[in-house]
Amino acid sequence: MSKLPSAPIYTSEVYLMACKQFDRAADAINLPESIRDRVKHPRRAVVVSLPIKRDDGSVQVFEGYRVQHNFATGPGKGGIRFHPDVTLGEVAALAMWMSWKTALAGLPYGGAKGGVIVDPSRLSAGELERLSRRYMQELIPFVGPHVDVPAPDLGTNETMMGWMADTWSNHLGRFDPAIITGKPLALGGSQGRREATGAGVAYLVSRYLEDLGVPLGEATVAIQGFGNVGGEAARALARRGARIIAISDHTGGYHNARGIDVDKALACVAANRTLADFDGGDAIDNERLLALDCTVLIPAALERVITPENAPRLRCRILAEAANGPTTFAADRWLEENRPDLEIIPDVLCNAGGVIVSYFEWIQNLENYYWTRDEVLEKLFRQLEQAREAVERQRARFKFSRRLAAQTLGIQRVAEAKQARGLFP
Ligand code: NAD
Repeated sequence: MSKLPSAPIYTSEVYLMACKQFDRAADAINLPESIRDRVKHPRRAVVVSLPIKRDDGSVQVFEGYRVQHNFATGPGKGGIRFHPDVTLGEVAALAMWMSWKTALAGLPYGGAKGGVIVDPSRLSAGELERLSRRYMQELIPFVGPHVDVPAPDLGTNETMMGWMADTWSNHLGRFDPAIITGKPLALGGSQGRREATGAGVAYLVSRYLEDLGVPLGEATVAIQGFGNVGGEAARALARRGARIIAISDHTGGYHNARGIDVDKALACVAANRTLADFDGGDAIDNERLLALDCTVLIPAALERVITPENAPRLRCRILAEAANGPTTFAADRWLEENRPDLEIIPDVLCNAGGVIVSYFEWIQNLENYYWTRDEVLEKLFRQLEQAREAVERQRARFKFSRRLAAQTLGIQRVAEAKQARGLFP
């Protein structure tokens, strides 16, 4: 392994985890040394200061990032995270995973990610609007429909994407929705984008349950994180007949062996932004939720929640990684060696539905021609199925774990594109 560059980004725990995964995958496919560092490290990392006026008249400066990992086959693509624990290294890791994900899904994009250090629940709607607009304003020299196209992630939503699209359009002097995806329908958002990531998770879970011979009606599901992805995955899996037995968010968790009323839980979050007042189950903490006896466990919140300490306690048959990077490198190795019966759907495949429908939204914006929800979902499931089949073929061919199969496919495609383009000048 070559020496790491010295900027502080490269010492972050999450970034090191993404690097370890990369090194393992690069070794597995004998990626030439001459190209490894070029494929591994981000092309560009931007740090911005974001002063906004608070409602009380004071001025507060927030710190934001955009990391553009690679542009080899198209514009950067990746969400924007608003969370108090965001670091440049975390954003860089997420940008790297976006590169493998877009390549695995066969999308004409590179990989990128953004973040702002902020607890969005502590800002008023007006303050959030000013922060969202200021973030886009500062990134104008670095983004664009053919340069880098952001989207929502943890702590951001379609309203904020709408404000950012408006900020960009005001700068241009004309409406240009293709700058960002995950927008409201009224601003060129796509049918099906809001539920895309969760619906994609539910689709893949159903396919792997089929392989195990477990009917959906007999499957039980526990979900950590009940925001866009976790909530929509719950909705879609419940519709497909599965029983959701536990859900949680940052305020706490709920367990109900007879089945959580998902519509009621979604209504609770729509009304109060959290599950804090939910009364449809018994209280359960996150560690106990992860260790529940269930068919499917879906981490859909933050990274690095499945660790070597709690991995031996997992009792699920399928681990569907809706969140990015939920399983640490060491926990992953432990599971690979000790739980051959556990089917892991790795993040770069499991949550790819979001970026696939973001791609559809971008195409619709560029063409000014809009599709129906059924068209979007049908194309989504077809594209996810192609990615799934490619992963299964790679897995069978090289006897890889599913994660290694998915990551090597993504890495190989990026490396081939970089090699074909050559080194400039
Ligand atoms: P969100 O902000 O809509 O929801 C996040 C949820 O996680 C909330 O319910 C929050 O309360 C919960 N949470 C936060 N900290 C928690 C903790 N310590 N314990 C339990 N729950 C906690 O975010 P989202 O868009 O649903 O993103 C969730 C994950 O999915 C992230 O890892 C994100 O990167 C990934 N992802 C999102 C998309 C997308 O389209 N939004 C696409 C691909 C991957």
